[in-house]
Amino acid sequence: MSIQQQINTLRNELREHNYNYYLLDSPIISDYDFDLKLKELQTLEEQYPEFYDVNSPTLRVGGEITKNFKTVVHEYRMYSLDNSYSKEDLLDWETRIKKLVDGEIQYTCELKYDGASISITYENGNLLRAVTRGDGMQGDDVTANIKTIKSVPLQLKGNYPPKFVIRGEIVLPHEGFNKMNEDRIEIGEEPYRNPRNTASGSLKLQDSSEVAKRPLECLLYNIKGERLLIQTQFESLDKARSWGFKVPKAAQLVNSIDEVLAFINYWDVKRHDLPYETDGVVIKVNSLFQQEELGYTAKSPRWAMAYKFKAEQVSTKLNSISYQVGRTGAITPVANLEPVELAGTIVKRASLHNADQIEKLDIRVGDTVYVEKGGEIIPKIIAVDISKRLEKSKPTQYITHCPECKTELVRQEGDAKHYCPNFYGCKPQIVGRIQHYISRKAMDIEGLGGETVGLLVNAGLINNYADLYELSKAQVIPLERMAEKSAENLVNGIEASKQIHFERVLYAIGIRFVGETVAKKLAKHYKSIDRLSKASIEELVNVDEIGEKIGESVRLFFDMEENITTIERLKGFGVQLELSADKLANQTEKLNNLTFVVSGVFKTVSRNELKKLVEDNGGKISSSISTKTNYIVAGDKMGPSKKAKAEQLKIPIISESDFLQLLI
Ligand code: AMP
Ligand code: ZN
Repeated sequence: MSIQQQINTLRNELREHNYNYYLLDSPIISDYDFDLKLKELQTLEEQYPEFYDVNSPTLRVGGEITKNFKTVVHEYRMYSLDNSYSKEDLLDWETRIKKLVDGEIQYTCELKYDGASISITYENGNLLRAVTRGDGMQGDDVTANIKTIKSVPLQLKGNYPPKFVIRGEIVLPHEGFNKMNEDRIEIGEEPYRNPRNTASGSLKLQDSSEVAKRPLECLLYNIKGERLLIQTQFESLDKARSWGFKVPKAAQLVNSIDEVLAFINYWDVKRHDLPYETDGVVIKVNSLFQQEELGYTAKSPRWAMAYKFKAEQVSTKLNSISYQVGRTGAITPVANLEPVELAGTIVKRASLHNADQIEKLDIRVGDTVYVEKGGEIIPKIIAVDISKRLEKSKPTQYITHCPECKTELVRQEGDAKHYCPNFYGCKPQIVGRIQHYISRKAMDIEGLGGETVGLLVNAGLINNYADLYELSKAQVIPLERMAEKSAENLVNGIEASKQIHFERVLYAIGIRFVGETVAKKLAKHYKSIDRLSKASIEELVNVDEIGEKIGESVRLFFDMEENITTIERLKGFGVQLELSADKLANQTEKLNNLTFVVSGVFKTVSRNELKKLVEDNGGKISSSISTKTNYIVAGDKMGPSKKAKAEQLKIPIISESDFLQLLI
């Protein structure tokens, strides 16, 4: 077998396994064997770059960076769908179309997938281009990102037409979405609100290797093209399936609106068992000939109709409203409900967001309210059943004073929320700040948990995070559930936190809007808390990626006398409030403005050390090659796709020792 044949055989095999895994859900080889074959192909492609193929299975991992997505005009316009909500709406629709076409009408019923629509063009069985819907006339070219989605075939099977466009929806299945959110919560980031927005946001990420990490799926429902030799919508779904596309099996061919309704009623219940979100059903006239006869209105096809499911709702009684105080002093009203089942879980509480929300809905204690669980995780109250309102009920008076410390609340202009301004005297704020300080991503104090912080504050032993460093074992032992050993662990854990690096300390002290990434940026730029604390807002906003909101908040923090005192105390205890000497000693600006991509295995330094050297000397590391890359540092076994890309963009590839020379 020639090398080319060998490469082609491997590519075909891998495509087949990919298809079995992602489309049929029934792999016939182990992940391990798959990886072996993939590596084998990678090695061959690396040795013989002349057989490069833009649609090779080795390129699924992404790596292409797109700064500005190219606008592409749709060859076939992407229309919206008309909506219907009842049997009457559907019957009206049928009456309208029966006036326009002859003969019996059959319908294909499909699920309406809730994601981001996409239009993909194939030529000679190869994926050519993928474009977002945009305004329907033109969209963004997101080909690089779409290619990383494993259920999108890069090369087709079977008997496909030479050229066509296929439309579908990019969705993020629940399981993958939940997993992504767990990961985010772990690193202290806000979870994503719903799968739909996350899916459509993913399509516009600049780094396709980031998209590759997201468990997106592509579900197809429509084919456009010339001389396709397809007669009906239902047949087109079958065909698409046979060419290797993922087309859900739920689709059904029916003969009447009554059968359409049966389909709707069935899926209104069953949709909760689907792995992804659906928000309705799409009903399409099955005959493509009839479709053509019917044509389009200004906005949507006459031959199709969406039916929207009602979001699941239940009514229940609002027992009380309580108010929570967060660590920043922000007040969140919470509805305490008579427990009720909704979409498979028992709901007892719902967020009321803020005062405006309560006023807008005129929610009162004792009311019967409708609770809905949309794409969002936390249920919300959407309306009050006024007919069940008790006669003696009075409008809800939003609290004017902090439920915890009784201080009068403030509400800044433009802020939706009320705040308790008693920064230093309000218990949940005090406890919250210390809990943040000790948390895993911050000082990561072993032996001390959030609950214990509450106990320590209640016992009057600590009032801010600096007090932690004066705690003694003897003081801690009498606390609930404490013993000799656990008290010792706690004190040791606090002691050990003195070694935590400055950038994490900066995150831990809890300046509003200063998350992990911002803390790192500020630490790197100012190098010590003393310099940072003296920076003006103008100086701060000049730092890369620091905006006005953060600048103001940093200034506000250091303008508070109490904060300066606390920081001075931390300094006295030996907490790291500047970049450590060894870190500073090795820092230069030799690589300023240079971007590096690192690939392969190295000899004198490890890959991570190499990356650190780049950053310590002012350079930037990027995970993928683009025109912005200045150098590729290549060790042994540099990836073949990176190599091909580098050669294509003519970016210098340097060795480990060349790189180290740059630093001398
Ligand atoms: P709308 O955005 O409410 O006008 O609905 C139209 C959109 O529904 C289309 O642009 C598609 O992205 C989406 N959609 C989801 N599932 C289907 C389906 N089975 N058939 C047609 N469109 C669908
Ligand atoms: Zn308060």
